[in-house]
Amino acid sequence: MKFINKYKSKNFNKRKTKQIIFIIIHYTALKRCNDAIEYLCNSKNKVSSHYLISQNGKIFNLVNEKMRAWHAGLSYWNDHIDINSSSIGIELDYSFYETNNKFSIKMINSLLFLLNKLKKKYKIKSHNILGHSDIAPFRKIDPGPKFPWIKLYKSNLVFDPSKKITINNLNLIKNWFKKNKMFSAKKRTLFILAYFGYDTIRAQNNHFFYRKLLFVYQAHYLQKNVSGKLDYKTSNFIFKHFLNYLLTKK
Ligand SMILES: [Zn+2]
Repeated sequence: MKFINKYKSKNFNKRKTKQIIFIIIHYTALKRCNDAIEYLCNSKNKVSSHYLISQNGKIFNLVNEKMRAWHAGLSYWNDHIDINSSSIGIELDYSFYETNNKFSIKMINSLLFLLNKLKKKYKIKSHNILGHSDIAPFRKIDPGPKFPWIKLYKSNLVFDPSKKITINNLNLIKNWFKKNKMFSAKKRTLFILAYFGYDTIRAQNNHFFYRKLLFVYQAHYLQKNVSGKLDYKTSNFIFKHFLNYLLTKK
């Protein structure tokens, strides 16, 4: 697969760290791919991404991988706050409200190809391939609840949290929380989400932010149950995810 190098964005600067450890997936929320190219290349907008993938699967390289593209904005993951410096940003030509409101097969195939290549090249860990909403849950919703994370699990590109867990193991983890006097479901949830890497501080005492955090978590991992509420299904899944995370070699 060839990259299209015809369009270049000037919206970048030097990375503050050499190590690339994250890949962040976005959607453009613009009507057409051409609009996205124009937007991401216009220096007035001060935004960019390394790659943009069109509905028909074309991959545009807008910023050199060595440079720091401006896609993540104010963000946080696992104590990292300058995610632009340590990541590659990939934009998808998608808008929920326009005719490009599908993650087309061609687009996703190109994304899988690109992720595979970047993951190998920079030795990026599966759990560090994330959506924009994961690293900026109070500001962003992309790539949203329709994004096919499942295809990324199936290609072994990202961490799959839904692997089977025995009831015994699940009880073990629930008892661990009880032993540590974490009785409130909210407290346990925020503890686990913070362990994964999410920014949970603002959600602790603010119900609106707490619901937003649950919403983006569900949009990523429980796409059939996106409510922003901690129902039984969500809370059980978070335990399962936590256990899978602990048991996976990283
Ligand atoms: Zn984004």
